[in-house]
Amino acid sequence: MRVVKRIAQVRKIIASAKRRGKTVGLVPTMGYLHEGHLSLVRLARRRCGFLVVSIFVNPTQFGPREDFGRYPRDLKRDLRLLKKEKVDLVFNPSVHEIYTEGHQTYVEVVDWSKIMCGASRPIHFRGVTTVVLKLFNILEPDIAVFGSKDFQQAVIIEKMVRDLDLSVKVVTGKIVREKDGLAMSSRNKYLSKDQRKNAVVLYNSLKWLRQAYIKGLRDPKLAIKKMASMIKGKNGKVDYIVFVDKNTLEPVKKLRKGTLVALAVFFGKTRLIDNTTL
Ligand code: AMP
Repeated sequence: MRVVKRIAQVRKIIASAKRRGKTVGLVPTMGYLHEGHLSLVRLARRRCGFLVVSIFVNPTQFGPREDFGRYPRDLKRDLRLLKKEKVDLVFNPSVHEIYTEGHQTYVEVVDWSKIMCGASRPIHFRGVTTVVLKLFNILEPDIAVFGSKDFQQAVIIEKMVRDLDLSVKVVTGKIVREKDGLAMSSRNKYLSKDQRKNAVVLYNSLKWLRQAYIKGLRDPKLAIKKMASMIKGKNGKVDYIVFVDKNTLEPVKKLRKGTLVALAVFFGKTRLIDNTTL
């Protein structure tokens, strides 16, 4: 497994893999890897001949009062885990390598970047699409794998790929959860013991919803009310709970098969997200 920091070098290695007829797969990450990331790595490994994982904590997707500086990092451990998964190449550039002095070009999926997570994180998705497009241009993957834990992110990236006629195939992997149901996230590390215990309410509220849907609940307003009260009961502060069409992200008036339920909840300063599709 090679670990490369420079764009010029990584381009040469990828070009050589392509000359050898290898399909190139990419799993973009911000590091501090957990089983959720590794499930995507395994999915990508099965689908490509040359597997690249990028580790880059992307400053442009963090707001000024967000956690860029204190985002958890452990490169040594990450590399050990990725080696076990038979990753061919880790791309771990510095911020300067990706954003040269005076960088001023951004790409944005305009409308979908403003809703849901975008409503409370206005520059977030612009930063995500910009860095992902840069990674696509640098690494020229045939396939790129994203997690459905960040459902809106995956949908936005698919939209960018379609709108800009990129040739990469976007694949999404399932949400990997802790034993009690909490979706794995590098940010779970920020939670206090109590918050960690309470945070399972995100999953429990989704589980409740599934059951209620099976029993006939169709009104999103009623569902939101109940879910919000479950979350409040565990000291969570709801950022949003939405019921949207999973392809268009348009709010639905009635729950039906294929409706995406997504939520974001604060525990203290830590913002957690989760979702499920009915
Ligand atoms: P991040 O390092 O948080 O930027 O995440 C990198 C990729 O891993 C993204 O495509 C995420 O959607 C995905 N991911 C994060 N957490 C999980 C999880 N619990 N299950 C599956 N995929 C995940």
